Order: sequence, then structure tokens, then C-alpha cells
Amino acid sequence: MSKPLWACPTCGEDFTRKSSAVRHSSKLHKGTSLPVSYINYLTGRLSGVYPPPLTPPSLMGRKIRQWPILTEATFPMQTIL
Ligand SMILES: [Zn+2]
Repeated sequence: MSKPLWACPTCGEDFTRKSSAVRHSSKLHKGTSLPVSYINYLTGRLSGVYPPPLTPPSLMGRKIRQWPILTEATFPMQTIL
């Protein structure tokens, strides 16, 4: 399984390729949601810039992934900056 490198800030779906993220945005969000790098998404989630992830439409009907609980303790900002 590959590490996600991109994320959709609107619904929280992650992608390994930017082209997939751009296609996702144009198909599901009418191009209004620009993909962000995954690390920026995580830091944005911690700081409250991005809303909590929705269940991505592409995962509807599949087993729902357990999202990690993002807290300052489990993901200190010092390791990012
Ligand atoms: Zn999305």
C-alpha cells in the first residue's frame, strides 16, 4: 500500500498521484477543491483550517476506513516544522 501524498481538503480522501486528486476534484467537487499535499492537509486538520473528513463518495458501499485521531500528542507540530 502506497503512502498518500495528496489529499482533497473538502472530503478528506487521499491520493498517491496529484492527477488522481485533480480528477477527483473535477468529478466530485466541480473543480472547486484544489488538492493539497498530504502533510499540509494533516497540519491543516490539526489547526482547524480543514473540516473533518467526510466519507468519500468513492468509499461509499465499501468498508469505512478508520481515520487516525489527530492530536497534538500523537502528531506534534515540532516534527513537521
Ligand atoms: Zn473530495
